[in-house]
Amino acid sequence: MLQSLIDFVRDHYRTNDFIPLHAPVFGGNEKAYVSDTIDSTFVSSVGAFVDRFEQDMASYTGSPRAVATVNGTAALHVALRLVGVGPGDYVITQPLTFVATCNAIAYCGAMPIFVDVDRHTLGLSPKALASWLDAHAYRDDSGTCRRRKDDRAIRACLPMHTFGHPADLDGLVSVCRDWGLALVEDAAESLGSTYHRRHTGTFGALGTLSFNGNKVITTGGGGMILADQAMGERAKHLTTTAKLPHPYEYVHDELGYNYRMPNLNAALGCAQLEQLEAYLAEKRQLASEYAACLAGGELEFVTEPEGCRSNYWLNAVICPDRERRDQLLKSTNEQGVMTRPIWQLMNRLPMYASAPAGELTNALWLEARVVNLPSSICVHGKGAI
Ligand SMILES: *Cc1c(COP(=O)(O)O)cnc(C)c1O
Repeated sequence: MLQSLIDFVRDHYRTNDFIPLHAPVFGGNEKAYVSDTIDSTFVSSVGAFVDRFEQDMASYTGSPRAVATVNGTAALHVALRLVGVGPGDYVITQPLTFVATCNAIAYCGAMPIFVDVDRHTLGLSPKALASWLDAHAYRDDSGTCRRRKDDRAIRACLPMHTFGHPADLDGLVSVCRDWGLALVEDAAESLGSTYHRRHTGTFGALGTLSFNGNKVITTGGGGMILADQAMGERAKHLTTTAKLPHPYEYVHDELGYNYRMPNLNAALGCAQLEQLEAYLAEKRQLASEYAACLAGGELEFVTEPEGCRSNYWLNAVICPDRERRDQLLKSTNEQGVMTRPIWQLMNRLPMYASAPAGELTNALWLEARVVNLPSSICVHGKGAI
């Protein structure tokens, strides 16, 4: 079984060399656009590619506004600031995520509260969210959601669309509405994924994307905030040092950040975005081939939730138990086929060990079993690596 999986991967990428988990591909206008920025000298914080990348991304995702940032973590940090997260607050998130989700909460001086994920979406569970809130929270006279134990405000809820599979957004939107929580989506992994035909990252007050080197498309490093017009204006202001427009004076009206994306990176992003739909078609084809290869075996291939289109950023399997997981990791990596376990739960990390947490049954179960498989695009049918 394991050998047939390894053979399938080698056959797909047509190489006997090392096969990484996710490598970028540059087969379009990348060089031309990046050269443009160098020829024009506009490589830094001013330039036409930043505006174009923002507009193209807004129209691709159907978001009224898109604001480019230096990376996805910075986008998250500013998004949380914009919904009012500050020192002493709580933000509810899932323990099964990449550390950046929690770090952005901590950068605001806030603390995460960990609530369980759904077994089939790998994302924050609306049911677990509602039951944690019922047991541990109340709304005060002004409607602010507070934790009973210390009366601190719970400002926001930050679900993450794991490996590109959309979380149960209808459920999350409804619980957040009932409890007066701002919904911010960490859509770093889910560019191109839709829930009931609407793009992930556009369901809450704000959504964020990442264009790190291992994501579906890359700008080298980069991120994006998806917002409505008013929030988008605020996001642009905060990420560009909160400078007021003036012909020559330097006027900054609040504490801002230098979080804007350089034009050099945006040029790469424009070229990558032109190819996104073709990438997605390939990624979805690979996913269906993985599913066929694994059908009837002991590894359960993770598929998109009902009513969703997933980008299948990282393909994943659920092993029967931890021993089988270890076997899979060992034999694939020994044979030069890169696989990785899902992240350790965030509440195991020293900085988040004291954060409040609900029952984490599904997160613990998945942590012991999920493994990611190679998921890169092939260039023109040849190994993209
Ligand atoms: C990649 C990623 C981010 C953002 O990462 P950056 O490297 O800062 O762009 C945030 N959250 C999740 C879940 C991610 O996978």
